Formats: sequence, structure tokens, C-alpha cells
Amino acid sequence: MIPGNEDDEVDESRADVSGEIRLPATLESSGNVPERAEIVIVGGGVVGLAIAYYLARRGLDDVVVLERGYLAEGASGRNGGGVRQQWSTEINIRLMQESVELCRRFAVDVGVNVWFRQGGYLFLARNAKEVARLEKNIDLQNRCGVATRMLSPHGAQEIVPELDLTGIVGASYNPTDGILFPWPFLWGYARQAAAHGVRIFTQTAVTSLQPQESGGFIVTTPRGNVRARRVINATGAWSPQLAKMIGVDVPTYPIRHEICSSEPLKPFLRPMVSELSSGLYCSQSMRGEIVGGVTVPGHGSTYAMGSTLEFLATYSRRLVRLMPILGDIKILRQWAGPYDQSPDGNPVLGPAPTHPDFFLACGFVGHGFMMAPIVGKLYAEWLTGGHKHEIFERYTLGRFTDGSGAAQPKEDFNIG
Ligand SMILES: Cc1cc2nc3c(=O)[nH]c(=O)nc-3n(C[C@H](O)[C@H](O)[C@H](O)COP(=O)(O)OP(=O)(O)OC[C@H]3O[C@@H](n4cnc5c(N)ncnc54)[C@H](O)[C@@H]3O)c2cc1C
Repeated sequence: MIPGNEDDEVDESRADVSGEIRLPATLESSGNVPERAEIVIVGGGVVGLAIAYYLARRGLDDVVVLERGYLAEGASGRNGGGVRQQWSTEINIRLMQESVELCRRFAVDVGVNVWFRQGGYLFLARNAKEVARLEKNIDLQNRCGVATRMLSPHGAQEIVPELDLTGIVGASYNPTDGILFPWPFLWGYARQAAAHGVRIFTQTAVTSLQPQESGGFIVTTPRGNVRARRVINATGAWSPQLAKMIGVDVPTYPIRHEICSSEPLKPFLRPMVSELSSGLYCSQSMRGEIVGGVTVPGHGSTYAMGSTLEFLATYSRRLVRLMPILGDIKILRQWAGPYDQSPDGNPVLGPAPTHPDFFLACGFVGHGFMMAPIVGKLYAEWLTGGHKHEIFERYTLGRFTDGSGAAQPKEDFNIG
């Protein structure tokens, strides 16, 4: 089922002749929302759906997801599908080790093939400062059990023979990083959450939130109101707008990030390749397309999702400098999506200090897809009375105002 093609009414109990299990209707794009719910999750991107799925798996099915458009409308349907454990802080490395494991098991656990392919991530350095940065990170990653190693330029070329080594002075490579196809991730979470009782409404924007004296909120939509005991804000780059409805300031802001995809080529590129100096990254999809992007600074905060010639020209020049063999390929598709940029590059999680029933799950910048599986799992554990992971103490909204954020190790590897 493609996003937006709602209501595929198939009897779960029946398997077709090929043995494929067919699931019941997943998305509701018409009809009224229920009058009450224990938890309303606003936002049907990967973060909201991952939380819904894990809540349902832990037996909490009185959950409603409200998405104003279709699944994958936001950043979750527009990203590069990169999943890596090469980070600069221990907490993010460890989170991503667990997320990679969840990605590996996704097809078995959720029943959908997300084409997760562990071809590694290859980060390329063009100067000594970048090499030192990689070496420092590798040391920490190795201590956490991630087998990243430093490579000479020729070592990098053994992994990607098509690289032009001019100006490359070193590289880091972790073979268990990978890429996946984002959309089936959302379909899988949505279908399994719905199969466990979660109701997912698309074409259903939340237009207001009214805190109740007795706790919880009245959540208003064009399909009626839901009385929710708890609300989770998983609206990605739009999270500040939703929070503003109850007077909560979330200091994240939208940054347009452009990306493009080429005609399909014979498979030749196993890892995601990323150049530190320019922010260029590219990988080859299972269908053979080269999918990649590059940092084009200076456009400021915007919700504009248009594509620019400036991006295409910058990307093409950098890509061909790095892999001259790609000089003749055709770019077939170009698009953009919003990064939900947080001031320190880390997500914003846990309740708003002024509203203990209003939970945040936003600020994931350019790595929300890879973090969604583990963050969804940990959120569900905590909200169902289980363990409260340290991310809910560290990545609070309060850290931006009470000074606690300044004392935390700064993540400085928000690239690729
Ligand atoms: C070009 C690009 C490349 C990227 N590459 C990677 C990558 O390689 N790896 C990686 O891990 N991450 C990557 N990211 C980041 C990743 O896509 C995001 O961090 C992640 O998808 C965020 O998911 P989300 O669910 O928080 O937000 P979204 O997917 O944006 O979902 C939020 C949803 O909330 C809905 N919404 C908003 N307001 C309301 C409302 N009032 N009522 C109801 N619904 C509402 C929106 O319609 C939207 O569907 C990339 C992002 C971009 C743009």
C-alpha cells in the first residue's frame, strides 16, 4: 500500500496463495475520532508510529495517532535512510547500537522487509583536523563495542575503488552501519500498531489542545475531539507549533534539507560515503539509484520544501570530484524535507516542565529515522510503567533553560 492509499480492508485471518499474511485496515481517513484515549500521539511520522507500535506491543492499545496528511508526509518520507553508529557521544553510540539491532530484526518482528543493508558508513577526511576528529570518535566507538576503524586513503579505496583520492587524507569505516528503505518502516509500524488496537487517523490535523484541570487535554480535530490523558508531540519540524497551542516554547526550528536520486546503475557502491568537509553523502539503493545530498548553507529557517538549482549544482560538483565515474549519470528526482533542528543537535524528550501530561518526541535533526526504533521502544517502556532510560533525564526541554544541557557532552557528529 502506498502512503495516502488508505483503508485497505483485508481480513487478517487470511493468507493469499503466495503465503503472504494480509493485515486489516490500518489507516482511518474518514469518520470521527474516538471520544477518549489514554494517549494521543500527534504526528504519523516514524517517531510517532514507532512509539505507537511499542506501546501496543506492551499491551497499551488505547492509543490514537493523529496525522494531518498521509504517513510519510513529513521528513520520514523524504530522508536518505542512513543508519549509523559512528557518533561522538557515548549515549548516542549506545542508542544506535540498539537501533541497528532493531533494524536488523525489523522484518522478523514487524513482518515487513525494509531492505536494511549493512554495507557500512565510510567517512572521508580532507585535513588533519578531520582525521583527529575521526580518531577521537573511533576510540570512543571501539570502547562501546563498535568496530569502526581508521583507514588510509588507499584503505578507503579498497572499499570503494571508484573514489578519486585527490585531497583525501584518511577515513573511518564501520562495516555494520547501513541504509534502509524508509517507507516500509512506517507501513510496518502502522500496520502492527493497528493490528494491536491502535487507531491511526490520517487527514486529521490537530487544531487545538486544551489542558484540563483534572489533567490531560481535549484534542481538537476536524473529525471531533478526543479527551486524552496524555499527549505526545511527534510532529517533527512542526513541534514548536503544536507546543505553542498550550503556550510551551520548543526551541527547535525547521531547516530545509535537499536530496536527490539518480537513474539506476548496476550495484557497485556498498557503503554510505560521506565527506566531512562538504557534508556530501551518497549511497546506492537496492534499486541501483545513487541517493545523496550535500550541505548548502545560508538559507535560514524555513518550512519551504522546494528544490533549488544551487543544491543540484553543488551536489553534482562534489559528487563528481569524489567519484568521477558518476560524471555522466542522470539525476531523475530531487526533493527536500525539513530537519527539526535543535539548538544542541540532540532530541527533545520527556514532558514539558509546565505540563506533565504533554510529552515531547522531537528535535531529531537529520537522524530521527535511525533513532526512532530505539527511542520508540524506550518511550513505550517508560510510559507503561517500566524503566525510565537516562535519555529522558538528559534530553529534556528544560535543559535549554535550566542550564543542565551545558553540562552534558556535546554531540558534534551531526552529519551525513
Ligand atoms: C533530506 C533528508 C534526509 C535525511 N536523512 C536521514 C538519514 O539518512 N537518516 C536518519 O536517521 N534521518 C534522516 N533524516 C531525518 C529524519 O527523516 C527525521 O529526523 C525523521 O523522519 C523525523 O521523524 P518525525 O516522525 O519526528 O517527523 P516527521 O516525519 O516530519 O513527521 C511529523 C508528522 O507530523 C505531522 N503533523 C504536523 N503538524 C501536525 C498537526 N497539527 N496535526 C497532526 N499532524 C501533524 C506532519 O504532517 C508529519 O507527517 C533526513 C531528513 C531529511 C529531510
